[in-house]
Amino acid sequence: MSDKYDVIVLGAGPAGYVAAIRCAQLGLKTACVEQWVNKQGNPALGGTCLNVGCIPSKALLESSHVYAEAAHGLEQHGIELSGVKADIAKMIANKDKIVQELTGGIEHLFKANKVTWIKGTGTLLPERLVTVNNGDGQPVNYTADNVILATGSKSIEIGAVPLQGDVVVDSTGALDWESVPAKLCVIGAGVIGLELGSVWRRLGAEVVVLEAQDVFLPMVDQQIAKDSLRQFTRQGLDIKLGARVTSSQVDASGVTLQYTDQSGEQQLQVDRVIVAVGRRPNIDQLTTPETDLLIDERGLVHVNGACETNLPGVWAIGDLVRGPMLAHKGSEEGVVVAERIAGKHSHLNYEAIPSVIYTHPEISWVGQTEEQLKEAGREYKSGVFPFAASGRAKAQRDTGGMVKVLADKHTDKLLGMHIVGGHSSELIGHGVTVMEFEGTSEDIARTVFAHPTLSEAIHEAALAADQRALHIPNRKR
Ligand code: FAD
Ligand code: AMP
Repeated sequence: MSDKYDVIVLGAGPAGYVAAIRCAQLGLKTACVEQWVNKQGNPALGGTCLNVGCIPSKALLESSHVYAEAAHGLEQHGIELSGVKADIAKMIANKDKIVQELTGGIEHLFKANKVTWIKGTGTLLPERLVTVNNGDGQPVNYTADNVILATGSKSIEIGAVPLQGDVVVDSTGALDWESVPAKLCVIGAGVIGLELGSVWRRLGAEVVVLEAQDVFLPMVDQQIAKDSLRQFTRQGLDIKLGARVTSSQVDASGVTLQYTDQSGEQQLQVDRVIVAVGRRPNIDQLTTPETDLLIDERGLVHVNGACETNLPGVWAIGDLVRGPMLAHKGSEEGVVVAERIAGKHSHLNYEAIPSVIYTHPEISWVGQTEEQLKEAGREYKSGVFPFAASGRAKAQRDTGGMVKVLADKHTDKLLGMHIVGGHSSELIGHGVTVMEFEGTSEDIARTVFAHPTLSEAIHEAALAADQRALHIPNRKR
């Protein structure tokens, strides 16, 4: 005899826990299976995002930014501080406290919404039977009318640089160092590599980033990417493009890395290494061959536009399926699936999902890049406004970067917004809302923005798309 639910969710990351809460809100008898054990040895909800991803990385980015400002950034405001010191152990403890508060919060939300947390590793069997193993006795079986798979993703490991103790680590290890390495190598100049490289650079490490591709941030509008590369380089991040790491050796003096670049074989000696070469879907104990769940060659669970798998009543969301590996994308898929199970016709607009790299400056974007528009042969117009011309950015002494607006040449529909600059993670919401409403650059140009704010740069970029910016000279038609 097995317990029966309306919905069982496998995984309680931002995709799974949100799906479970929304199912319960809609009156469905819901359970969520989660196996996570945190570094204090306690079972925890929240997945990668809350435990070792979005939240702890942002906590350390914030602490290290405050430290760097106090140590080097306040003189221009007429503030002199001496003896500024970073207590790394306290920084890590503060980060851990934030994580515990938030993961504990999800547990409260589960209780309040009557979601049952089944602790252990769940595996999907035929006929929506879920077997859960908690390493403590016999596996327990449950059945459900609907199963939502949300087991997320894991760091990719590479044979050339195997993880080793706290010397060669993945992103999780790099969130727990209690001392600053004198010389650090980050392998991979993706979102996670740049964020963690920035944390340790600000705290005093010499940082070299080795990136196999020749193009910096290929998914980002290249005007924005090039500007950000200049700013990162000025901060002392030594980003080497076209540099593929091929092997490594660890000894008492640190790590020796071999890599190839345009000039041939190179060698680099560092104290510690962060391997940040991407993430892969977590399908390790997800199912069995006889269940016949369709999984593609990249390990992603195959789904249609509504997150339905090939099996009736089995859905999949979040990092486990196609699309950007972002917490908010997974959460919104969770809401859509819960509502579809409850008979509603919800959908998610994949064209208007914002992406952010939380470095300083932050890089934020939504919609298409100029390169994508060119490739698609779409006729477009573009408007750019630099923060150097923004009164608020000047007052903050933070004038790096720009806003770029891309709109259809004929209909003026907003096709993309790309920002590199301080606080751009908050600014990009303007672009997302306009895209959701299928608005135009003229809609932004006619909107009143408060003065003086950073958001005025969005207004001016929209005006610039029509050659009528007020605070910079306009390009000739
Ligand atoms: P996950 O969060 O990975 O959760 C999956 C859960 O399923 C885990 O808790 C796992 O224990 C559980 N699980 C797996 N298999 C089983 C099983 N068989 N049975 C039971 N439970 C199982 N994204 C952003 O949007 N913004 C950011 O700022 C950001 N920063 C990041 C920083 C870092 C360092 C990292 C590593 C990632 C970051 N991400 C960020 C990505 C983000 O964390 C993921 O996109 C997000 O967590 C995906 O959510 P998910 O629910 O699909 O999976
Ligand atoms: P992301 O997938 O955005 O996290 O980025 C990971 C980055 O790591 C990609 O840009 C890859 O090109 C890069 N990468 C993967 N393997 C290697 C390697 N062996 N050496 C250097 N860079 C790598």
